[in-house]
Amino acid sequence: MTVPEGATIWAAAKQAGIDIPVLCHDERYDPVGVCRMCVVDVGARAYAAACVRPCEDGMEVKTATPAVERSRAALTELLLSDQPAAGQDPKQTTTADNELLALAEHFGLGGGVWGGRPPGSALSGPASLPAGSGRGADLSNPVIAVDHDACILCDRCVRACDDIQGNDVIGRSGKGYSTRIAFDLNDPMGASSCVTCGECVAACPTGALTNKPIRNIPIRPRTELDQVDSVCPYCGVGCALTYHVDRERGAIAFAEGRDQPGSKSRLCVKGRYGWDYAASPQRLTVPLIRRDDSYPKGPLSADVRGEMNRGEYLEDTEPRAERRQLSAGNDVNAGRGGRNGNGRNGDGRNGNGRGDKRRRRKPGGLVDYDEVLPHFREATWDEALDLVARRLTEIHAAGGPGAIAGFGSAKCSNEEAYLFQKLIRTGFHTNNVDHCTRLCHASSVFALFEGIGSGAVSTTYGDVVNADAAIVTGSNPTANHPVASSFFKQARRRGTTIIYVDPRADKMADHADIFCQIKPGTDVAFYNGVMHEVIRLGLTDREFIANRTSNYEALAETVSNYPPERAAQITGVDAALIRRVAKTWGEAGAGVIFWGMGISQHTTGTDNARCLIAMCAITGNVGRPGSGLHPLRGQNNVQGASDMGLIPMFYPDYKKADDPEVRARFERIWETGDLDPDKGLTVTEIIGSVLKGGVKGMYMMGENPFLSDPNINKVRKALSALEFLVVQDIFLTETAEFADVILPATSYLEKDGTYTNTDRRVQLGRKVLDPPGQARLDWEVVQDIAVRIGLGWDYASPRAVFEEIVAVMPNYANLSYDNLGSTGKLYPNPDPEHSDGTVVMFGERFKTDDGLAHLVPAEWMPAKELPSDEYPIVLSTGRLLQHWHTGSMTRRSYALDAISPRPEVYLHPDDAAELGLADGAPARVTSRRGTIVLATRFSYREGRGSCFIPFHFREAAANLLTIDEIDPLGKIPEFKFCAVRIEPAAGPELAGSAREAAPQAEGR
Ligand code: SF4
Ligand code: SF4
Repeated sequence: MTVPEGATIWAAAKQAGIDIPVLCHDERYDPVGVCRMCVVDVGARAYAAACVRPCEDGMEVKTATPAVERSRAALTELLLSDQPAAGQDPKQTTTADNELLALAEHFGLGGGVWGGRPPGSALSGPASLPAGSGRGADLSNPVIAVDHDACILCDRCVRACDDIQGNDVIGRSGKGYSTRIAFDLNDPMGASSCVTCGECVAACPTGALTNKPIRNIPIRPRTELDQVDSVCPYCGVGCALTYHVDRERGAIAFAEGRDQPGSKSRLCVKGRYGWDYAASPQRLTVPLIRRDDSYPKGPLSADVRGEMNRGEYLEDTEPRAERRQLSAGNDVNAGRGGRNGNGRNGDGRNGNGRGDKRRRRKPGGLVDYDEVLPHFREATWDEALDLVARRLTEIHAAGGPGAIAGFGSAKCSNEEAYLFQKLIRTGFHTNNVDHCTRLCHASSVFALFEGIGSGAVSTTYGDVVNADAAIVTGSNPTANHPVASSFFKQARRRGTTIIYVDPRADKMADHADIFCQIKPGTDVAFYNGVMHEVIRLGLTDREFIANRTSNYEALAETVSNYPPERAAQITGVDAALIRRVAKTWGEAGAGVIFWGMGISQHTTGTDNARCLIAMCAITGNVGRPGSGLHPLRGQNNVQGASDMGLIPMFYPDYKKADDPEVRARFERIWETGDLDPDKGLTVTEIIGSVLKGGVKGMYMMGENPFLSDPNINKVRKALSALEFLVVQDIFLTETAEFADVILPATSYLEKDGTYTNTDRRVQLGRKVLDPPGQARLDWEVVQDIAVRIGLGWDYASPRAVFEEIVAVMPNYANLSYDNLGSTGKLYPNPDPEHSDGTVVMFGERFKTDDGLAHLVPAEWMPAKELPSDEYPIVLSTGRLLQHWHTGSMTRRSYALDAISPRPEVYLHPDDAAELGLADGAPARVTSRRGTIVLATRFSYREGRGSCFIPFHFREAAANLLTIDEIDPLGKIPEFKFCAVRIEPAAGPELAGSAREAAPQAEGR
């Protein structure tokens, strides 16, 4: 046979359809040839390891002679003799992928072979371990078990952790027989730098690294479970995965990554272990209507009133282990059957969650149903929907279109987003419809539309492999887009120069060739300085500038005022380093920029993004492989929800809402009249309008602005002031406390629909579980309200809605439920039957009217609220790896909550010392708008004079502090910059158990 030069014998055999067994090898890793299971006869004195031995011209290989098979059987027998005895076999808790046992079966080796090590030998492990143990077990990680005795030292986990995920946690320790894999410096896995991505578990060919059962759902062999292919419901990376479902228990047993052109089988901790929120006993299962005696409206719980944010929760001394028990314990052992299906209880008053108090309340964590539910009564769906339709119609009739607004969600599917905006636009004749994109990349989208005529990425995250240089900026991808970051790290290993620019020295800095720790809010000055140097050194692409851009002279004029020395003064980055970035970027044959909310969430967010567009355009870095612009989208479907028109200035497919021709087209398509001729209000503007008496009635589907919007005290007033609020969600969120009607919705895992990831990949999410109680599909609920207000909708299924989407939106042309397949398709896609879709866009022209990239110069402007003597520290807010948005899903996931259970303020240890704060000590953080108390976490990743607080935690809500100033164009709030004061908090010291959560300073 003929094979490519350098192909190994193993690869050639595979090509020929011949199976050669391996233990240490996997196609995704570089071969190491240590297990010798793949030996073949090449006619030499010794057998050759097929996984590493390259093919040679004229080579004759015998892959399975009796002697070769005997060698493999003997090797299997030897390996088995070191395995834990059969009765102690940890495979009971594995995914049953024990390749060693499969080989034993193949070679007819019985159970008497293994467990050969004598009990009580000198190498035995701790006394608590079964006889025959030698190298010990490690159960310190909440969801991964390590049995060193079952390890055959094949190093697959080492390469999975290093080469695939780029986490570099696993090595080896010890010598000879006692050698074992080691996490960091032989730390317990749960105390190491491991991020629980589970890649090592997926790689392990024995029972050495296994998944622990979550919520006591046993992990049974695949053949006894159902497999459902779907997509991760968390971030915009949109990793493909398969859920393995225990139908008897109505629950997921485990999840694993699935091959797809983008994510390539990888997952992070959220995708692999964060799916059990759907089985939470706190799910809403019955419609609820506010009781008459619970008016006037206002916050119902101490958290939402703002009281817990002052540190009362710190009195919680419940040991952390017990908290874990609460999350994982017997309450959910019964799976869905344990939940109160119809939401009724003894007194018929409360919805679900009644019964054992331990099930419902975690001090300083989730909503206390006892505190909130008495303010609501159960209702039938008909009663609740009739009330919603009647009240919204009345408010619309009395106040006109401007009195109604709707918030959809980037967590919902394309079909749900499409129907929701259509309902608000055709039912209430207003463009007041928006979603959390306003808090995410609204400024990036504005700049991209202005600059290149399209808000979507110009290339995929995987295209980084073709880049000579990649800039990652204003982004913490190892936490927010973990699988995308694994491709950045891998590209660097293959030669791409990674330039990381951020005020925080996040983990990406550890993987960067050049790291520039800029002062917060100085991005424009930094990139103007870089462009100044690119131009001075003559490293621009003159042809590209001449043929494909406009307004270059104005840009050059502006950046000429930013020599590196001036940029250095503003940004705090050495002029020499700025020059080095310029030279590296300017000389790169192909360069790509990835950015996150550190760029967009500023009052200068649009200007920041304009600079990045200019950086690419003046160097010709758009439209070729390895080059382009990629705003890393936050939520799983924020790209799709925006595509669907869930934004106030655009109809579906980004058709301008205030263009009369566009309006006429949609009036024709939707068979309606009176569409709103003007752009609608954005999320932040709607909150302001409520306070001024403009918007009076709101429909919120899956959005939780109480925690996600800036300046919570203002949001609280606005939500209290609404005449009517309907909240459709899967949990009783903080926002739901202000609702008149609460509608129980289905979780991601309980419905079919399409989702569009950051790469423009449209994928099918499939139903995995049945909805609990009376919870209903979101699209059906939206349709029921539409019908009640007189719209003649009659969609039969999400598929029918998608067919309308495709017909209306040229970008989605040619896509269908049938051709999306199991891995989805990128849009635009002229031929989805044969092609994955378009990776690199704008090869010939941009989508602007003249086809050119419009360069828009930007002058640096300081943030709106600068530090002062009273408020000397800059606060930046954002996400943690383990948590998501307002925490409603992740804080109800056992693994994610166990790893990251409490709010903390990340602070440089030197700053903390000056403030008199020890690691773990309670700190009071105060801005001009509010105060919260939370634990101090030492972090060398913070710049001096800055701090970071994640916004997921209701008991220390970061948005009580943030400022509601917005970017004038993108209307995005300045989440990344406001001034605060930090001081030691009086009151209870953190309990010892709580201190445990912050044992290591970040980043050292
Ligand atoms: S779970 Fe992930 S980070 Fe942790 S050791 Fe395994 S591969 Fe490495
Ligand atoms: S990287 Fe994002 S999409 Fe992928 S598994 Fe993690 S959270 Fe899910």
